Amino acid sequence: MVREIELKILPHERTDEDLIRRRLAAKCRVPEQQISAIQTRRRSVDARGSRPFFLIRYAVFLNETPPAEAPLLKGLRVLDETAPEAIVIGAGPAGYFAALELLEKGIRPILYDRGKTVRDRRRDLRAIQQFGEVNPHSNYCFGEGGAGTYSDGKLYTRSHKRGNIEKALRLLVEHGAKSDILVDAHPHIGSNKLPVIVANIRASIEQYGGEIHFGCQMTDLLLRDGKVEGVVINETEEKRAAAVVLATGHSARDVYYLLHRRGVRIEAKPFALGVRIERPQPLSDRIQYGQSPREAALPASSYRLACQVEGRGVFSFCMCPGGLVVPAATAPGEIVVNGMSLSRRDSPYANSGTVVAVELEDLADYQQHGVFAGVEFQRSVERAMFGAGDGSQRAPAIRLTDFSRQKPSANLAETSYIPGLFSAPLYDLLPPSIYQRLQRGVRVFGKKMKGYYTAEANVIGTESRTSSPLRIPRDGQTLMHEEVAGLFPCGEGAGYAGGIISAAMDGQNVARAVARFYD
Ligand SMILES: Cc1cc2nc3c(=O)[nH]c(=O)nc-3n(C[C@H](O)[C@H](O)[C@H](O)COP(=O)(O)OP(=O)(O)OC[C@H]3O[C@@H](n4cnc5c(N)ncnc54)[C@H](O)[C@@H]3O)c2cc1C
Repeated sequence: MVREIELKILPHERTDEDLIRRRLAAKCRVPEQQISAIQTRRRSVDARGSRPFFLIRYAVFLNETPPAEAPLLKGLRVLDETAPEAIVIGAGPAGYFAALELLEKGIRPILYDRGKTVRDRRRDLRAIQQFGEVNPHSNYCFGEGGAGTYSDGKLYTRSHKRGNIEKALRLLVEHGAKSDILVDAHPHIGSNKLPVIVANIRASIEQYGGEIHFGCQMTDLLLRDGKVEGVVINETEEKRAAAVVLATGHSARDVYYLLHRRGVRIEAKPFALGVRIERPQPLSDRIQYGQSPREAALPASSYRLACQVEGRGVFSFCMCPGGLVVPAATAPGEIVVNGMSLSRRDSPYANSGTVVAVELEDLADYQQHGVFAGVEFQRSVERAMFGAGDGSQRAPAIRLTDFSRQKPSANLAETSYIPGLFSAPLYDLLPPSIYQRLQRGVRVFGKKMKGYYTAEANVIGTESRTSSPLRIPRDGQTLMHEEVAGLFPCGEGAGYAGGIISAAMDGQNVARAVARFYD
């Protein structure tokens, strides 16, 4: 017999297995000896009261052994060159999870990515961090594992209806992630662990017959009579297949321009843009847990805030407690920031994107760019941030209270951002529609969360790549482009995902759609 029991566990009790067993036995009203196994099913932190605690749901096995779970990939047939092939462009979460699913369906994925392997990518990340040099094919967004590899690795998603979250998480565990991610309410991997997991996924794809080619940029599509016949790689090599999965992420602006040039319909869609706000982690812990330093067992605290200002959402996004702010530009001449953290989340800083929703009607000044109005709006802000600086990846910043009062900061708070910050009037550099809403938004947040509105926080420009400003429209049933047979827009760049797990699930869904198309 198996009983599901939920316990409130104080932080210092969390590793006390005897105590937990005793409490579970008491709740089940059985002697402890009858408990043959205990499994954690769900774990979250409740910090609403005066003392934070863990809420943990256990499966208690009484005189019964838990069933062993079969690995998801083991037993797959290794495909050879006689198997049908599909081209996958992009080795991000969408592309890699599509490739794994294609293998399950007996289709050989032939994958191309413009960037480098996780290992070789590191050198280019160092060049951005230390010398301000941005390689347009290898950076925080491009290369093996896509934007997901050197990301924060938060795996929380609200996209429950979009696919099988558990399968995506189990595949990550099979490739080296801790099994904690299967039970934590807010699972997290960390950017020090992700590269190994991504490399293990590559090994699986190759082991079961897939191919992965790096340094291979898709520069054109082979189109004929309303269908795709393949792609052109690096302007020279034609690669043919009846299905092309386009999983190039939302920073590959060249891909959108290519589609438009080739008459493949794309659509403008709403997105969000703003800043990243960084503050000392102990300050966040004091606000959230009422304690600093926090008890060792408690995770670095995070928060999530949202309000409406003049008809637009202002919200915090992609919180990285115990994290670092990183330069996420994909081309020289722009400043884009994002956040990540290591698995222990032990840096002394907490950062979070704070952005404003941008609707299509907010882009009147960019109408001359047609469908690209949103892209050009993003680009103009990223360039303004770069133009205010010294030509490096140093980012413009201002103390939060000065930001709101429109007053230059004489100096800045300490930061985790390695290229460095310089004091700049972000209230002038941001478009007025964004600045004014952020200005009011952060004051509202200060009322919702005492201690939020503080001079100890830096506001850093700019968080411009939260979501795609374009959609590559696809049919809801076939998941193919509405007008191009065989072309499968996929993941965040296609506008059908936002985040690692939703992109991974979209990859799986698209792979199943490719299998149906081949059938
Ligand atoms: C610093 C940072 C931190 C983040 N933290 C989190 C987080 O904690 N949790 C979360 O859920 N999300 C996070 N994200 C967002 C997340 O990484 C993305 O949502 C996700 O990676 C999108 O997956 P994707 O496969 O659709 O696209 P991408 O990951 O963008 O992958 C696209 C791939 O396509 C390749 N490509 C592009 N153009 C071409 C071309 N023409 N030819 C060949 N290849 C091409 C690129 O090299 C890249 O590898 C973070 C992003 C960043 C940058």
